[in-house]
Amino acid sequence: MAATALNIVPPPAHTDALSVSQALLPEEALFCFSPAALQDRLKLFTDGFPGTVSFAVKSNPAKDVVQVLAAAGLQHWDVASVHEMALVHGVSPKARFHYHNPVKSRREISDAYHVYGCRRFAVDCREEVQKIADVIGRDTTVELAVRFVLPRERTSSAHDFSTKFGAPEHIAVELLQDADRRGYIPVLTFHPGSQSRDPQVYVRHIEAAHRIAKLAGVHVGKLNVGGGFPADYPLSKPMPLASFFTTISEAATRFFGNGTEPELECEPGRGLVATSMSLLTRVKLVCTDGDDIFINDGVYGGLMEFMQVPELQPPYRLIRDGKVLSGETKSWKVFGPTCDPLDVLPHRLDLPAVIQDGDFIEFGTLGAYSIATSTLFNGYGSHTIVPVDTVYTG
Ligand SMILES: *Cc1c(COP(=O)(O)O)cnc(C)c1O
Repeated sequence: MAATALNIVPPPAHTDALSVSQALLPEEALFCFSPAALQDRLKLFTDGFPGTVSFAVKSNPAKDVVQVLAAAGLQHWDVASVHEMALVHGVSPKARFHYHNPVKSRREISDAYHVYGCRRFAVDCREEVQKIADVIGRDTTVELAVRFVLPRERTSSAHDFSTKFGAPEHIAVELLQDADRRGYIPVLTFHPGSQSRDPQVYVRHIEAAHRIAKLAGVHVGKLNVGGGFPADYPLSKPMPLASFFTTISEAATRFFGNGTEPELECEPGRGLVATSMSLLTRVKLVCTDGDDIFINDGVYGGLMEFMQVPELQPPYRLIRDGKVLSGETKSWKVFGPTCDPLDVLPHRLDLPAVIQDGDFIEFGTLGAYSIATSTLFNGYGSHTIVPVDTVYTG
């Protein structure tokens, strides 16, 4: 653990979710967060990725997470809004922002530029370039990152990002030329889709980036390969991160030429933060007639992504008296705490037959798109974070 991190982030008072469940007997669901797990994962990225690593704040905007990453030396942050800039700036005043949401209002562009010193903006449409030019004027230190998209391949990721953002190649060519003509620094970027299964998806995009730059006749000094780096889930076991890094590095050299490849950047969300948090829930009712159990968090809380993408089922375990309970299991239908019938997990869970109210269920690998999308619907959905040494990952 980095010494600098300890100056800001105090060591956790609890070992893990088992000790949290015993010490606090939490009535509301809470997130256990392991700063050490996050630091280790960041190190994998910074040691292994052949370029600059930033963090996609939207995947987990908890202040604890931002603090740990800033203390570990992270300098670049991919943000989706001015609010996220304010959050990171409050923790790390020297933070450098990549405003990579391709759609920003004039007011947001102005605040990003004037208040937070942002000099990188993503664009995927001509009108957005014009808006930025109207608001900022000429500034040769501003980078415009043209976000391009390839036709969707159904099997490449768990979460498709291509339907909303990204310019098709022929438009990307024009945007790149437009950025260059206006005196901005042209950059290329893409997002292959969240939880990408195969490094080859990056290769196809890097090949397209080279094609776009060549057709545009514009020198592209930086290529941001987005997020999409996978985490390990029970139903989605990706290749190791190292194979993604090697493949990306080799593709950049192969297509752009040795020594003339652009500087690479990545902006992981899920792949960096998913394994550093778990969600500790509590059983409220066991109804044996219907094999139904009711817990104190659900699809309106930290388990929303599980409903949207059942492939991203988190690992889970039952805890009683500070110990993991095993033994004969049964298949349970698991409901969340709200009165909405949609608030039920998309698959049944295999949990011990002896489960009873008051027991705890810990869901692991819930550091990404969990606390960020948790609502207060029906008065549930706590955002409490309890630091621990280690979190369960299955
Ligand atoms: C969401 C997003 C990310 C992070 O994606 P992950 O799949 O969580 O790694 C990175 N960059 C941009 C522009 C995004 O919108």
